[in-house]
Amino acid sequence: MVSNFAFFYQCIVIAGSEPSFRENIQHILSAKGFENLVLAANGKKVFETLRSMARTPDKMGVMIIHQSLPGCQVDELCKIFSCNGQDQDIPIIVVGEDTSDWQQKHGLKSGCLVSNLPDTFRNEELATLVNLFLTIKNERCFRLKQEERLINELAERKLLNAKITYLSTHDELTGLLTRSSLDYKLRIILQRNNNINRNGALLFLDLARFGLVNELEGFGEGDRLIVEVVQLVRRTVRSDHLFARLGYDEYCVYLDDISASAAKKVAQRIVSSLIDFRFISGSTCYNLTVSAGMAMVLSDKMISHPEELISRARQASHLAKDLGQHQVWEYNERDPQIQKKNNDIQWVPIIRTALQDDRFFLEYQPVINLHTGKISHYEVLLRMAGQNGVIHPDEFISVAERTGLIHGIDLWVVEHAIGFLDDLPPEMNHVSLAINLSSQAIQDESLLPAIKQLLESTWISPNRITFEITETAIIENFEKAQKMILEIKSLGCCFALDDFGTGFCSFNYLKSFSIDYLKIDGQFIRNISNDETDQVLVKAMCDIAKKLGLQTIAEFIESLESLNIAKRLGIDFAQGHLFGRPQTMIMKDESIFTRDLSIFNDSDSFSTNNH
Ligand code: C2E
Ligand code: MG
Ligand code: MG
Repeated sequence: MVSNFAFFYQCIVIAGSEPSFRENIQHILSAKGFENLVLAANGKKVFETLRSMARTPDKMGVMIIHQSLPGCQVDELCKIFSCNGQDQDIPIIVVGEDTSDWQQKHGLKSGCLVSNLPDTFRNEELATLVNLFLTIKNERCFRLKQEERLINELAERKLLNAKITYLSTHDELTGLLTRSSLDYKLRIILQRNNNINRNGALLFLDLARFGLVNELEGFGEGDRLIVEVVQLVRRTVRSDHLFARLGYDEYCVYLDDISASAAKKVAQRIVSSLIDFRFISGSTCYNLTVSAGMAMVLSDKMISHPEELISRARQASHLAKDLGQHQVWEYNERDPQIQKKNNDIQWVPIIRTALQDDRFFLEYQPVINLHTGKISHYEVLLRMAGQNGVIHPDEFISVAERTGLIHGIDLWVVEHAIGFLDDLPPEMNHVSLAINLSSQAIQDESLLPAIKQLLESTWISPNRITFEITETAIIENFEKAQKMILEIKSLGCCFALDDFGTGFCSFNYLKSFSIDYLKIDGQFIRNISNDETDQVLVKAMCDIAKKLGLQTIAEFIESLESLNIAKRLGIDFAQGHLFGRPQTMIMKDESIFTRDLSIFNDSDSFSTNNH
């Protein structure tokens, strides 16, 4: 409700040819406190006043007009200004005729803001009518303003909502779709394609070197690079194709209604344009590497989930990357590489659960000193308690290495192996262990400090521990491996090069490493009694090892014949089923041996011993 105070400042037009008429009304209204009174002797003056207030209609209050006003057809004036049913209607009081059907007589609709009074009106009557009309008018104006405000507010809110929706579905930097909105749109497309038998293709672009620009040139330049690359790709694809940014350097383009060969051409076009692209930042010129994966949406082989489609395209891009730079690779579920990756995916939760639920356990296999016939140490071998029995490391170690879970495994093995030594009774404190470390251990900077800390806290003598890493792993990480082996040695532990002979055709590199033992791979030993080539090769390995001052260990000694040959060839240590399979416990006495080892002259002397 508007305050009555506003009334007194609103303009009231008093129009009549007779001065006495005007003055009388002026007098009555002034006495009631109305101030802004405009007197008009004819129609012309009335229209002038109306015109001057055209832009501020709320300032116009009421018009009191005598019916006989010259230059004005009062009923027409009423029709124009008071009968539109709008909030800006101006109330008019017509003086001069007092008939109740005045409005009807003059063709005015009911609801017009018009009223009539006789010449002989009473002062109170006029003042009440003016007040009433002003209240109605102001109420209408107020409502109009409220409505306007509401409409504006609503429009602003709609705009804001639209902005929020846009920002949540589009990447802020590039304006591309976000991962979640791509998901949403693909879900609709997959359903639709299913119904209308339409094919499509999702391209997954994996761009490298964005990080490099960020690091060397700063994030501003990194952002500029992204925008330029996105613009470039945009020019290559149709505007109605979906283009999304999934991560920092991962992008997806969905090509609708397209065959595999046409989609491949688009992918190759994108890759070519990115190969030619150069990003100039200051005086440095960068080029990008890109790998494109492609997964088809085929009407006869529908995919129901967008995540699956994206994952297929991503897997294909990883294979493209493995093939080298700038490749396009199409997903095919029969692809052996893809099958391997799928296998990895199934293994990940199994390995994680095994770590969480302590489903790993260790077995120990004796390694025999062939010069003394005594147990030198035990190799620690990891096992997983699976739902259907024991799972051997060959099944899960390489998956764990590919998926990064291996760090947890390495640490678990080291902790439990050292814990095992710590728990042995004092009379077995000569027992020593060889612990296998993964190829990734070389990259794991937290592992050696953890080992050091474990040794310190348990007081286990470091020379009771040998670490084994495969030959292939150390060749692939030459410098880091060198450093790691030195650190292992500086702790006081020994180092063995495992599976020796499988990795490299030259042995020259051995000089660069501070190695204690060469463990000749089982493949050279398994058939050594029947295979002369193996004998020649093993002999060569032994000779080189001797020259370098290294001791040799033969794996897979399964028979007395191979043991015999190993001894003859000068091998220092042996390990294999002939002496004992890996077991969860180690025996205090020699009952661990499963065979009669009378081949040794001093077979009586078999006992566990330090190196
Ligand atoms: P490896 O270190 O060369 O271990 C020797 C493998 O040969 C073991 O297989 C052992 O059970 C097997 N073996 C020993 N004697 C004989 C024999 O006379 N005949 C035959 N056929 N096999 C014999 P396992 O335990 O299945 O381990 C396989 C590989 O898994 C190991 O090869 C090692 O590379 C890896 N591994 C084992 N435990 C661990 C571990 O704790 N951590 C890591 N990172 N890798 C491990
Ligand atoms: Mg080993
Ligand atoms: Mg081995």
